[in-house]
Amino acid sequence: MRYTIKPSDDGFLNIELEFLPTRTGIWEILLPSWRPGRYQSQHFAKNIPSLLAFSGIRECAIQKIASSAWQLSVTDLSPIRICYRYWAQQADAGGSVVAADLLYINFINCLVFPKAWENKSCTVHIVHPATWQTATSLRGKVGTYTTKKYRELVDSPFLAAPSVFSYAWKEGKTKFYLEGIGPATHFSKKLIQAYQQIAAFQVQWMGDFPVKNYHFLLWICPKPYYHGVEHTQSTMMVMGPPERDCYEDLIGLGSHELFHVWNVATIRPKALLPYVYTKEVFFDTAWVVEGITTYLGDWFLGASGVISWEEYVACLLGNLKLHFERDGRSEQSLLDSSVDIWLDGYGPALPGKRVSIYYKGALVALAIDLMLRQKFSHSKSMRDVMRLMQEKYGRLQAGYTRQDFYALVEEVYEDSLADFWYKWVESAQPLEGEIAALLRFVGLHFHQDPEGQFHLDPLPATEEIQHAFLR
Ligand SMILES: [Zn+2]
Repeated sequence: MRYTIKPSDDGFLNIELEFLPTRTGIWEILLPSWRPGRYQSQHFAKNIPSLLAFSGIRECAIQKIASSAWQLSVTDLSPIRICYRYWAQQADAGGSVVAADLLYINFINCLVFPKAWENKSCTVHIVHPATWQTATSLRGKVGTYTTKKYRELVDSPFLAAPSVFSYAWKEGKTKFYLEGIGPATHFSKKLIQAYQQIAAFQVQWMGDFPVKNYHFLLWICPKPYYHGVEHTQSTMMVMGPPERDCYEDLIGLGSHELFHVWNVATIRPKALLPYVYTKEVFFDTAWVVEGITTYLGDWFLGASGVISWEEYVACLLGNLKLHFERDGRSEQSLLDSSVDIWLDGYGPALPGKRVSIYYKGALVALAIDLMLRQKFSHSKSMRDVMRLMQEKYGRLQAGYTRQDFYALVEEVYEDSLADFWYKWVESAQPLEGEIAALLRFVGLHFHQDPEGQFHLDPLPATEEIQHAFLR
């Protein structure tokens, strides 16, 4: 498949796909209706007014048959060209933007493909002013990139602008980059050092890194914003406004997204392997994907020394409050809210209905970590779980089910955890007392004051125990 993308100054991308049909007859042309990282239909096709198709120089019939599907009648084996415009004005970490001084594309939004061609190789040619600089994990000479599969192309965001910041370093066998667009003050030495420390720590903690190149891509956008999306070889982060000091948000987000290289890009729920881009794919392990990553993303900041113990405790309390204050009495279990992520997982939901797969998921991850640390005096922890997940599911590129995850944690814990799963994952029981009991083991007193405010205070003379928690 060969794609050509030309931005126009009215906010659209002009896109052309050329491919050689392998048979005559009816073909289906599809556009993803969602993107990995946000498990919710976004119907990107709403940004395409119409498609035109040509066989050689002759126009051929193409008809819309569903929100993100078109039917094409192929009468001979000449190259097919499909031409359309895409309205690129979605300024978030998963969208695409055309502006006078910016070209930002998430190809998953805008590149149609023939049905069942997700594993075919792609070349994309992007037209932009010759003096502009670019940032992307795609390989090739500037402006033209080739991937082995459509899947890789749509997992690789692209940025171009008159000026792009770029800094690279090596960690183990991997070359890391911090690249992006925005005022130079945001691409500080302090941020680079933090990313170097976080990457070094995570790579050493997991034993190796799944990819050879990794790009932290950042766009400092004009409006107040905080959003990140994970990819196999990059993360796309959008922060704003430019006047704001984004350092603290950026270290937390960068650490979270980097761990997704293992936890979802490599170690993947079975239902998502491979990704089916054209329909909702329900899975009851969204809390494993986002909860463990939320918990560990913050824990890595403390453990790598990027933030202090006190800052880490404040961060942990923040996450506990986000669960207990908002969702502590919600009706749904973590399991039901995982499935419902497609329904109301991101925006508002009914009062008292769902729990956050991020924050209740992080609470479950914290509990698993603390139970392992307590039973094995810190000689086992969440690290044993994630390394075994990588060995059993990540490296083998085999998906896991909820039952697989349960069994694996129980293997590390060396006992059944049936009651734990029921209480913490499958039902909606209050957990304040349970987590408070576990936190005492690491010298932390979790309690609620008479006004209902939650606190996390160090217990007296427990400094050594506290520090063991960050190892
Ligand atoms: Zn995430």
